Amino acid sequence: MQDMKGKDKQAEAIRVVKGLLKKVYGSQRAALETILDDLEHRPPAVAKHARHVWNANGTAKGRLTGGQRGCFDGCSGPKLGVRWPDGRMTWPCVKAMFVRKDGDWQIEKA
Ligand SMILES: [Zn+2]
Repeated sequence: MQDMKGKDKQAEAIRVVKGLLKKVYGSQRAALETILDDLEHRPPAVAKHARHVWNANGTAKGRLTGGQRGCFDGCSGPKLGVRWPDGRMTWPCVKAMFVRKDGDWQIEKA
């Protein structure tokens, strides 16, 4: 197990929690569902090394500035500062993005 990558550990944890969900009810079930939601939306470890964010169409690439902000109350995802080629700055939330195969972020299509 020690050579498991962060992404595989996350997938394994999701599998285990889903298995437990079939066996518990009531408040325990609600707690597990919260954990599962968090696990499924947590940025994969690989994204820590991302340097760029692509727009939803994959046609423009912005640069991560390293800045982070909290999202609205009830959202656990940080918003990441992105500087686009046209000079604009935006703050997309990681929960509205996914990690591409090349390790960069991409904004999900609405
Ligand atoms: Zn958010």
